Amino acid sequence: MNTIGYAAFDKESPLKPFSFNRRELRANDVAIDIKYCGVCHSDLHQAKNDWHGSNYPLVPGHEIVGVVTNVGPKVNKYKEGDLVAVGCMVDSCQNCSPCKSNEEQFCEEGSTQTYNSKDRVDGEITYGGYSDNIVVREEFVLRVPEKMELSKVAPILCAGVTTYSPLKEWGVEKGDRVGVVGLGGLGHMAVKLAAAMGAEVTLFTTSKDKALEAKKLGANHVVISKDEQQMQKAANSLDVIIDTVPVAHDLSPYIQTLDIDGTLIIVGAIDNIPSFHSGLLLGGRKRVAASVIGGIEATQEVLDFCAKHDIYPDCEMIDMQEINTAFERMKKGDVKYRFVINMESIDKDKE
Ligand code: NAP
Ligand code: ZN
Repeated sequence: MNTIGYAAFDKESPLKPFSFNRRELRANDVAIDIKYCGVCHSDLHQAKNDWHGSNYPLVPGHEIVGVVTNVGPKVNKYKEGDLVAVGCMVDSCQNCSPCKSNEEQFCEEGSTQTYNSKDRVDGEITYGGYSDNIVVREEFVLRVPEKMELSKVAPILCAGVTTYSPLKEWGVEKGDRVGVVGLGGLGHMAVKLAAAMGAEVTLFTTSKDKALEAKKLGANHVVISKDEQQMQKAANSLDVIIDTVPVAHDLSPYIQTLDIDGTLIIVGAIDNIPSFHSGLLLGGRKRVAASVIGGIEATQEVLDFCAKHDIYPDCEMIDMQEINTAFERMKKGDVKYRFVINMESIDKDKE
């Protein structure tokens, strides 16, 4: 299918319009007309080749919502007109132990990412949701709960599941003390989700203006992380920390805010983390862990959880043509709290 998207052509230039063909439907494929796509900081990392594996042209986008336009003959779950979503993965082996345990993100053969990944059947590089349509195998298509407002759903597909999955895995429940570091796309979802789970939420932020708003999002306490006194006051006060900071940084000040048996979970920086003294962990049996996205089952679960608890990401709508400005602003932490592309705007590039 003839497709128009926006692609990075190298790590320096701005994203530009890019025409390509989506594959013909395989028997188990679903074709989706993309309505909205969230802008994740990972899109920026990959456009800029921060993780050294970018294939150009690179069409980012893994927070996708849209409407089914066509299905292959073996598709049972979806039909034309259904409201659906696609997150960070579009395929996996489906046979290994992690796949069978609904943790396709840990597929032993490597899961196929929504973009910048090799398709398992034809070997072509996948192109993501900064485009007007996508074709995805049925098992990796999510259902958008009926009552949800479609324009606000997209960030749940990555920011939502990436923070929901560790909160669930670490068994966060009513009364638990959860810290969230960084109030961006992931961070603001972590605050909302942890609050809905009944946790007492502490936000660590570098931005004074965000501190004022964090309580509206569900935080009980706010700590300006650059303020040593405030950090000291928070010592030994948390059970779980979700660290969403997108760059390598010293974990020591945050480890000190964990109580005995507390865990700091890295979901942000994929990088060499500066070393820290093991005494910080010994004195309190503390742990540093990490987590990556979540499986397909967890992704459906977080969509349903958000529908049930009336949780929506705070979305700033942009046109596709504004993506380069959005990237610049995201780099500076100037986003409240997720850019979402209204894909109707891409029609302007079709003429
Ligand atoms: P984002 O919207 O840009 O938010 C990041 C926030 O971190 C900023 O708003 C800022 O919050 C804080 N921050 C930024 N630079 C900082 C610095 N130098 N020092 C301290 N704090 C800083 O990004 P995002 O989309 O939430 O993604 C965050 C990271 O998670 C990215 O690296 C992304 O690639 C990664 N990610 C990982 C997964 C996974 O599966 N593990 C999935 C998706 C994304 P304040 O203004 O409040 O300080
Ligand atoms: Zn993402």
